[in-house]
Amino acid sequence: LSTAASAEPFFYLVRQWPTTACDVYHCHDPPHGRDFSIHGLWPNNDDGTWPSFCSQTKFRRNELRELIDEMNKYWPSLTGSNEVFWTHEWEKHGTCAGPQITTQHDFFAAALHLHKTLNIEDALSAASIVPSDSTTYDTADIVAALRDALGFAPIITCHNGTIEEVWFCINENLDVEDCEQACTAPACHNQHTCPHVRYPEPKGSA
Ligand code: 5GP
Ligand code: 5GP
Repeated sequence: LSTAASAEPFFYLVRQWPTTACDVYHCHDPPHGRDFSIHGLWPNNDDGTWPSFCSQTKFRRNELRELIDEMNKYWPSLTGSNEVFWTHEWEKHGTCAGPQITTQHDFFAAALHLHKTLNIEDALSAASIVPSDSTTYDTADIVAALRDALGFAPIITCHNGTIEEVWFCINENLDVEDCEQACTAPACHNQHTCPHVRYPEPKGSA
């Protein structure tokens, strides 16, 4: 007996390593963060497609008042205005989140909560994987360290051989799951983009 898999939407929680993302996005100033910061929480389908710009609902800072301090801390824009970045993420991805996320507040609060639950730097340093301008790590070792410490395997993306983003997969109940289980079709982003990566030191001030 085989059971046909039913379509199960999920989310990618995407975090960026500021040193690398700044290289990609040409920051004006060196990044200030010394930690991975949030890029976005992206609804996705398990066939590898994803919805975007699902409604005209505008970004409303007033609904997020109690979250703004944490958003500034954990979800800064490396290239410009934080609010412009959050507006983009809300309009492109947040408007497609649902049904468990029904408000803008739910969307940003869920991303912040998941971000704090999944501490990448601590998980890596527990396996002696620390930022270094002279070491190259096996991507498989990075994934194993994150799986060991946090329970689930993410996807690693890179730019010019340098770690850029860590994508964790989040199911419809907002629980973390292995990305290979969340998305199984060939179109899914399940391949780490480089076999080896550098994890360069933060360049900005703390
Ligand atoms: P890129 O083309 O740089 O990989 O991605 C550009 C943008 O497209 C991302 O910042 C994100 O907004 C969206 N995107 C790329 N890949 C995915 C994906 O697999 N799932 C979702 N939901 N969005 C994606
Ligand atoms: P996505 O790639 O998710 O569609 O959109 C990212 C957009 O937000 C790009 O247009 C990028 O210029 C802008 N942006 C502003 N700040 C940041 C940042 O810190 N990281 C990334 N990846 N994009 C940012």
